[in-house]
Amino acid sequence: TTRTRFAPSPTGFIHLGNIRSALYPWAFARSSGGQFVMRIEDTDVERSTQEAVDVILESMAWLGLDHDEGPFYQMQRMDRYKEVLAQMREKGLVYPCYMSVAELDALRERQMAAKEKPRYDGTWRPEPGKTLPPVPEGVQPVLRFRNPVGGTVAWDDKVKGRVEFSNDELDDLVIARPDGTPTYNFCVVVDDIDMEITHVIRGDDHVNNTPRQINIFRALGKEPPVFAHLPTVLNEQGEKMSKRHGAKPVTWYRDQGFLADGVMNYLARLGWSHGDDEIFTREQFVQWFDLDHLGRSAAQFDEAKLRWVNAQHMKMTADAQLAVHIEARLKKDGIKPDASLAGICGLFKDRCDTTVALADWARRFYEPVQPDPEEHAKHLTDAVKPAIDMLSRMLRDCPWTREAITEAIKEVLRANGLKMPQLAMPVRVLVMGTAQTPSLDAVLALFERDKVIERLGRA
Ligand code: GLU
Repeated sequence: TTRTRFAPSPTGFIHLGNIRSALYPWAFARSSGGQFVMRIEDTDVERSTQEAVDVILESMAWLGLDHDEGPFYQMQRMDRYKEVLAQMREKGLVYPCYMSVAELDALRERQMAAKEKPRYDGTWRPEPGKTLPPVPEGVQPVLRFRNPVGGTVAWDDKVKGRVEFSNDELDDLVIARPDGTPTYNFCVVVDDIDMEITHVIRGDDHVNNTPRQINIFRALGKEPPVFAHLPTVLNEQGEKMSKRHGAKPVTWYRDQGFLADGVMNYLARLGWSHGDDEIFTREQFVQWFDLDHLGRSAAQFDEAKLRWVNAQHMKMTADAQLAVHIEARLKKDGIKPDASLAGICGLFKDRCDTTVALADWARRFYEPVQPDPEEHAKHLTDAVKPAIDMLSRMLRDCPWTREAITEAIKEVLRANGLKMPQLAMPVRVLVMGTAQTPSLDAVLALFERDKVIERLGRA
């Protein structure tokens, strides 16, 4: 069975580029009947906050990225890492290194001067027949991993294809600090082993960690998982998407009225494809998702496209379901909608790319509107006022159905020798505040009768 994970570092808010790295492992687990594990990489205690964890979990819950296990917190697994460190020490897979920071700096400078890549030179690495320097007094050593010498470390990346590093490029990594705390690459490997992760799907900013992690897996007697390194998400200016470059939190999109399914659809396409399909449901995405169609080049965020995708999902969403979103928004402003709300959603959803836009239409049915002054002046001529009076009288008595309203409108047109727009435009301006609405009879039928009469009376 497949097991994937999302392993964010809770050091700031989570933006769309970040959460895309959760979407794919989630979809892969769901599409293959596997499990999706949530892990919080909070070992950077200076920068990690519980608030950031909460926002990550809230963002994932909103998008419906449910996990089967976790969240596990790395800070709560320290004893486990130390246990594995002790085992590795016993097996000679790690060794203490007493090189001081000053010595390391000096080494680095010599290497730079000789135009070599700075790397640890193995001074403290025990070898048969080698005499190690005398252990300095009062110095707490770091623990270094005995990286294999010679040969290559390679993997078939699901996105990048074959990736190969020469072992000689990788020096002996510090895997425990002088105070005994384990370092990042080591914790990740212990976690991925313990959590039985089969597929690591993550950002390609981790590609350089992967060969080191693979060597640690092997030293621990484990086969590394399958890796898929996702290309970066760029912002609209072509920079790496980041908070510093103006990326907005995932929750901002929720608050701006984007639908979770629309955002999911948009993000899914930002780095993965299924033929020419642009619009799909969550179920289709899970059904279709595979690792073979992940894109190889960086994807660029495009808010206009996101809006377009969301607009398609607005149309695809059932009226009653939209009404739930809209009701929540209206209630925040103290508006209590009535039973017509689902009908209002159905009538207006085609012209809205977010639930915020739809709520703005719905609001007009319940709250007084300010007719647009320009449209008011243009359409509400003195000549049409008697017709509006007549319509108002007729609407007072007719059955409150769309058919009866249509009949009333037709009769007023006939009696006053008017064409439909001559009457419909000013009535829309009075009732809805603007003439840019769907068909008048459909709009009126969704109103409370008294509100229509009252608004027509203001002519
Ligand atoms: N914590 C890492 C990050 O936020 C992810 C590590 C991983 O997926 O292996 O970038």
